[in-house]
Amino acid sequence: MTLPQDLRAVFLDVGGPVYDDENFVAAVLQALDELRADQGRGPVERSDFRAVYDRIRAQQGGSLRRALAAELLGDPQLRDALHERTRAHWHHPAGTLYPDVLPFLAQLRGRVTVGVLANQERAVVDALTRDGVADSVDVWGVSAIVGHEKPSPELFTWCLAQAGARPEQAVHIGNRLDTDVRPAAALGLGTVWVLRGEAPDEPTPAQLAEPDLAVRGLDGLAARLLAGTAV
Ligand SMILES: [Mg+2]
Repeated sequence: MTLPQDLRAVFLDVGGPVYDDENFVAAVLQALDELRADQGRGPVERSDFRAVYDRIRAQQGGSLRRALAAELLGDPQLRDALHERTRAHWHHPAGTLYPDVLPFLAQLRGRVTVGVLANQERAVVDALTRDGVADSVDVWGVSAIVGHEKPSPELFTWCLAQAGARPEQAVHIGNRLDTDVRPAAALGLGTVWVLRGEAPDEPTPAQLAEPDLAVRGLDGLAARLLAGTAV
């Protein structure tokens, strides 16, 4: 797959490309501390958490929740409880929007359909509205609203249908290989891997070969995506 020549739709993951993934980290740490308190244990060592988190980031596969439950709660069965507690604490505070998001979307406006395509809670719509992003969003592919989660193909095909685009006319921008790049590429979308948040600090050459394009941020990306598209 290569980036589309006839680009009609751009879909954006939220955690990583749009908001700092440290928002998720804060929520999962709070959830871990609460569950450990239930066990009569003290808060998790932040360095222990980072070791697990960084290992999963480097792998770009495997379940972070399962690893955290097994290694920091001592019970992989607590994976679902950890998930529910994390959801309750997960917010995107003001000031955590990456500064390159609004300029990027401004360059796309009127040229292509823009969609959110993300595993997120409903409250993300309020955060994106507060931060001025919602005005640029045509398709709201939020998992908690649509009822499908990445990496399942349904969320991607739902967004494509809403945008009226074929896969080869669309690009998905995300920061994970397992839930963004691979499922999007499997459906025939172009893929952009944003190397921040849950992406590895130092991706391997094999990882870098998976997306059509890997970038450190969104500056300059709109021009590259629109290069083959008629005005
Ligand atoms: Mg993400």
